[in-house]
Amino acid sequence: MYALLIVFLLGMMVDAASGESTANPASEPRWTIALHGGAGAGARRLDDQERDQMQRALERALKAGQQVLAGGGTALDAVEAAVVVLEDEPQFNAGKGAVFNTAGGHELDATIMDGATLRCGGVASLKFIKNPIKAARLVMNETPHVLLGGERADRFAIEKGCEQVAQEYFYVERRFEELQQALKKRGLPPLDAPAYPVPNTTEAGKQPPPGEARGTVGCVALDVHGNLAAATSTGGRTAKLAGRIGDSAINGAGNYANNNSCAASGTGNGEEFIRHSIAARVGWLMEHSKLPIDEAVNHCLHKVLRPGDGGIIAIDRQGNVAMHSTTIAMPRAVADSSGRWEIAIDVDQ
Ligand code: ASP
Repeated sequence: MYALLIVFLLGMMVDAASGESTANPASEPRWTIALHGGAGAGARRLDDQERDQMQRALERALKAGQQVLAGGGTALDAVEAAVVVLEDEPQFNAGKGAVFNTAGGHELDATIMDGATLRCGGVASLKFIKNPIKAARLVMNETPHVLLGGERADRFAIEKGCEQVAQEYFYVERRFEELQQALKKRGLPPLDAPAYPVPNTTEAGKQPPPGEARGTVGCVALDVHGNLAAATSTGGRTAKLAGRIGDSAINGAGNYANNNSCAASGTGNGEEFIRHSIAARVGWLMEHSKLPIDEAVNHCLHKVLRPGDGGIIAIDRQGNVAMHSTTIAMPRAVADSSGRWEIAIDVDQ
């Protein structure tokens, strides 16, 4: 009788062990990072030189995150470091290169979330902060709140040491052309000029952003401590109303991280991402419906959102990564401790 019980208990232990190790720890990457540069339609129109520029920008961001993770740093530090690089690149619609609103200005949104603690921070409609993701991190770290917006958020970030810039800093010539085209499409009169004096166009100001690709940026990471984090940053949508706040400012909508499921960052039609709590929904589908990460992401893109609404990148605690979009392009990149290093722009439909 006792012998039988022991055999039974041993069997249970083996089951438990194999249950935990379905992903074979030996082959699991110790750290993984993935990032995106926005879902959109225009990247196919990039010429070789523009495509090359974009790939190099993605690579620089990937390296920034990789360095943090490979040195044993946290997923939070890694996603922030990668997003800062992308914010500084004029190709993307985040930080420098942010799109214009109908008032001819720029208002920036960003969020960051820690999967270990569910602590998170967001900023909405910033006008004068070079790197909104740093401001979002400060909201998380140094306030009891999860979202600050408008003039007071700018002031908070400046007081906490974020670099302050004039609106002119965000100027990229092609973005203004995009605004004029968008106004025309809506039957609205064009603007004579941006809401600020156009700076002498620097090299960076001339660099073309990727056609109509929307260019929001986001990053998700798993660190060697087993923790997940996500960060997202954007200028929003071209010709948005001044004061409009999108999903990239709102954890749960365009950004989410929870060690029980995944870290996710979205890009696309922000109103739809907010309406359906898309980034958190990927996590819930994994945690409660036990969907693998690819299925959870695809469910949101194909069963919840509408065709062409956007893309999602997500990562789980085993280092599995899903990067999908229903647009024809989503610049993206992934790296991990096993040597994986991939960069892509177009989406295979
Ligand atoms: N989701 C962003 C927003 O709606 C825009 C984008 O990802 O392209 O603000």
